Amino acid sequence: MHLPSLIEKKRDGGELSATEIEFVIGAFSRGEMPDYQMSALGMAIFFQGMTPGETAALTRAMMHSGRVLSYPADAPPRVDKHSTGGIGDKVSLVLAPLLACDELWVPMISGRGLGITGGTLDKLESIPGFNVNLDEPRALAQLEKLGVFMIGQTADICPADKKLYALRDVTATVPSQPLIIASIMSKKLAESLNRLVLDVKFGSGAFMKTREDAESLAAGLTTVGQQMGVMVSHQLTPMSEPLGETVGNALEVSEAVHALHGGGPPALRELTLDLAAQVSNASREQLARWLDDGSAWNKFVAMVEAQDGDATRLESLTEVHAAPVQFDLVAEANGTLQKVDAGKIGHACVLLGAGRQKTTDSIDFAVGCSAIKTTGTVLGKGEPILRIHARSEASLQSVLPRFREAVSIA
Ligand code: URA
Repeated sequence: MHLPSLIEKKRDGGELSATEIEFVIGAFSRGEMPDYQMSALGMAIFFQGMTPGETAALTRAMMHSGRVLSYPADAPPRVDKHSTGGIGDKVSLVLAPLLACDELWVPMISGRGLGITGGTLDKLESIPGFNVNLDEPRALAQLEKLGVFMIGQTADICPADKKLYALRDVTATVPSQPLIIASIMSKKLAESLNRLVLDVKFGSGAFMKTREDAESLAAGLTTVGQQMGVMVSHQLTPMSEPLGETVGNALEVSEAVHALHGGGPPALRELTLDLAAQVSNASREQLARWLDDGSAWNKFVAMVEAQDGDATRLESLTEVHAAPVQFDLVAEANGTLQKVDAGKIGHACVLLGAGRQKTTDSIDFAVGCSAIKTTGTVLGKGEPILRIHARSEASLQSVLPRFREAVSIA
């Protein structure tokens, strides 16, 4: 097959066959299709879309680009959750160890930051030593012992998503429903799950800007999951303001640590419990008890240690990664906070270095913002709305107008 002709076919609105899609994904995964051709195809898919048949074929091809996990016949049910991406969304860090307090296995394969949204893998890597690249035997042994692992796509598991994800991140091809469906479901299906709950976000800080688009994405994700025998449920959640009080990698892990101790912002705790309850055998009340009595925290510490992380630094992570410049954005008048725009804040945090602008960029774990107030908060003139963490004064000055634009008080 001739790759430029396949790109041309999609560019012109044609439908690719399952064989053509398998050929493309195979060539890309083996390094025989260069990034520039895949970027062009990604943009063609972004504009032309894909039929449900093409989307299912893409998901299958991406899932089979690597190994699909298999378990002993008497293994407990496998469950997981995936978010379609948001700002300050650190739910997975709390939810995975929480679910593993139950008699379940949580084989979580996550992604890095994508577009303006943060990624679980980048957050986990802010923990000194944390290894997101376990090979399959090691990951499975950890699952047997602890009931949970949190890893990324590897050369063995979903290599096609690993490569395509990184390309989409920097080529403005993220908010495409077929590409999102194939990316999420190829990872989740490679986990051989029994139950999956999806957190489908909508709003300025999500890839789907409207509730209707999020509903359509949820339907597409569910169809593909059900076709492959997974029980899929979902929740539509607004992402017009950041989730919780922090955005940025180490800052978010630190907030998740509070939630694992039974504290943290109510919005984070409630969403975690709502989602966990959809796939757990345990009741929501029992799940809440596991957050409050240290069970989920102990599971998280055990997982961090099993994955080579230094758990002794978890409670001082913001000191390990302390941004040299910290600046409080304050209310310029008395009033009520009307808007804390998640999209604008996410974009500003990427510019600070919390996300990537090129595939080769490294992440600055320290930067982002903290102490973010929620809309509806009454503030006096001079009271902080949020604290910006920047690497340098110049970096702070370059993003300050974006942060000012992101908030409004009346
Ligand atoms: N999460 C993923 O894993 N992939 C996407 O494309 C979006 C969110």
